Amino acid sequence: MKKIIITIDGWSACGKSTLAKQMAKALGYLYIDSGAMYRAITLYFLRNHVDWTHTREVEKAMENINLQFVFNPVSKSTEIYLNDENVEYVIRDLVIAEKVSDVAAIKEVRDFAVKQQRKMGKDKGIVMDGRDIGTVVFPRAELKIFMTADNSVRVGRRFKELIVKNPNLTIEEVKTNLEMRDYIDSNRKVSPLKKAKDALLLDNTNLTEKEQFEMAMNWANEKINTSA
Ligand code: C5P
Repeated sequence: MKKIIITIDGWSACGKSTLAKQMAKALGYLYIDSGAMYRAITLYFLRNHVDWTHTREVEKAMENINLQFVFNPVSKSTEIYLNDENVEYVIRDLVIAEKVSDVAAIKEVRDFAVKQQRKMGKDKGIVMDGRDIGTVVFPRAELKIFMTADNSVRVGRRFKELIVKNPNLTIEEVKTNLEMRDYIDSNRKVSPLKKAKDALLLDNTNLTEKEQFEMAMNWANEKINTSA
């Protein structure tokens, strides 16, 4: 069966990773969460007090960062390792979410991440989600999906996810964070978040997970059957 590249971009917390994981599983493809890379780099910068407003400090720090995705048979998904430590769960904290968009706007950080992302896709058979995957990382991907959902729906979903670990969290904090990240991500100079011209729009405000999965899988199967 012909393997393709599937890119899923879109706003924060609109369910990109849920869909990407389901599609990768159904197709037997590799799933890569590109946002996890920016989150892990942010974690490294915070832990090591890297002043990311100085290019030289960023360059020096990047030399000490090794990121790897490893399949976890229990969670049945790939998880990210920062210098051999599994950081899949710590990088989901709001502390990281508050800084990640600033870090992800740095050119040296993006060059580092994009280079690795392209390597991971060289044999195709990959589903990657993020903000610039269809526009910059794999501009020739066979299937590009751009996801969106109403703000209130996205805030509600992310709040439900985070409150489990952080009972003091308020819905206002989540809302402010999502709005701030979307603003920075779509207005930065390097690789801003935008819909690729040839991306298919998936608005899941009123869709169930099952409905959105079926819609996306129809697109994928069509592309797999028609791509040369
Ligand atoms: O996808 P997730 O919300 O985990 O991504 C965290 C942050 O990483 C985003 O808000 C964005 O700033 C950055 N990011 C990016 N490019 C990507 C993926 C994520 O700039 N391809």
